[in-house]
Amino acid sequence: MTAFTFPAPPPADVEGLRAEVRDFLATELAARKPRDRARSWSGFDADFSRKLGERGWIGMTWPKAYGGHERSALERYVVLEEMLAAGAPVAAHWIADRQSGPLLLKVGTEEQRQTILPRIAAGECFFCIGMSEPDSGSDLAAVRTRATPVEGGFRVTGTKLWTTYAHKSHYMILFCRTGSQEERQGGTSQLLVDLNTPGITIRPIADLSGEHHFNEVVFEDAFIPDSALIGRMGDGWNQVMGELAFERSGPERFLSSFTLLVEVVRALGDDPSDRAREAVGRLTAHLVTLRRLSRSVAGMLQNGENPALQAALVKDLGALVEQEIPEIVRGVVSVEPSLQADTELAAVLAHTILNAPAFSLRGGTREILRGIIARGLGLR
Ligand SMILES: Cc1cc2nc3c(=O)[nH]c(=O)nc-3n(C[C@H](O)[C@H](O)[C@H](O)COP(=O)(O)OP(=O)(O)OC[C@H]3O[C@@H](n4cnc5c(N)ncnc54)[C@H](O)[C@@H]3O)c2cc1C
Repeated sequence: MTAFTFPAPPPADVEGLRAEVRDFLATELAARKPRDRARSWSGFDADFSRKLGERGWIGMTWPKAYGGHERSALERYVVLEEMLAAGAPVAAHWIADRQSGPLLLKVGTEEQRQTILPRIAAGECFFCIGMSEPDSGSDLAAVRTRATPVEGGFRVTGTKLWTTYAHKSHYMILFCRTGSQEERQGGTSQLLVDLNTPGITIRPIADLSGEHHFNEVVFEDAFIPDSALIGRMGDGWNQVMGELAFERSGPERFLSSFTLLVEVVRALGDDPSDRAREAVGRLTAHLVTLRRLSRSVAGMLQNGENPALQAALVKDLGALVEQEIPEIVRGVVSVEPSLQADTELAAVLAHTILNAPAFSLRGGTREILRGIIARGLGLR
């Protein structure tokens, strides 16, 4: 069996930055109730994103030439974890900052970088990810949305599914088929799609709690110009796999239920039962360990390594803990979960229960991640 490691993250002098972010959030989020904080990275607020852009907290690691701030991956990590721990609404810029921007920086054309990256860093340009389709979610290589080369560009036809915030985004990074179906991975490419393009219809899908963040996005012979090709034709698969390392390792992979933990600690007060003490202590120990693993991946990304395997492990372990939190909370406090409840704990609990099933689906399902880990260990 092959072994793999999580090296110690490189040291970073971050306490000044952490205090600055906390001060900012204390003011900005003062009026935000726990039930809204529980949405954390799925909460969309374009004004808040713009304010973060003004502070220099989007595109933090990117070159200044593209509107970035040339800070370290660990400084970025500090900003992210403070945002999520406080329940800040970061969804508007989240995907662009986390993966679309880094993708363009790595393989985009100079024109794409110059026109898009400064707008992302300013918190004014939002992205969605067009990977999943009906019949090709986990089996991404079966993607059928087709971009057929024509004079000056491509004609795109097909359907994307579960596209988070497509209805509020400016662009989609479209994963599509440019070669034959038989080529599988090798016949895929990525396109930078302006969502105002004629021939694109965005339809809402409600989630379990009735909220609209998912969409179905239908392309009907939409014309996408040549200049939209990201990286090399046929390289879509490799590019997407690089993106997923960013998607799978961040603090959002263990802080999605954090507001609930904060609320239950508040509700338990100064003299909790031994059982409650033990439960909260155990969850805290898990979170501290996950944080250490996740910071290690941030360090590897900073060093230009490819921690895809470690990222899959962080995501799987993180989802387990996040999904466990609502169940454990139910065991230590007596509260009826309800989205409309007067008490914040009951509303946060209801929100978390309704969203937790998705934690082990989004960004790659549990079975797929475990397959990646097993392969990485040389077990399959
Ligand atoms: C909250 C949320 C947000 C999302 N946002 C986006 C987004 O913005 N953009 C986007 O493109 N997608 C998005 N997705 C889609 C998500 O990435 C897919 O749901 C996921 O990849 C699984 O695909 P599927 O739903 O088609 O399930 P399927 O692939 O049909 O899988 C169904 C079940 O079968 C299992 N399975 C499938 N293949 C295998 C195998 N080979 N071995 C063992 N088990 C297997 C899976 O693990 C799963 O349990 C989002 C999903 C959620 C829940």
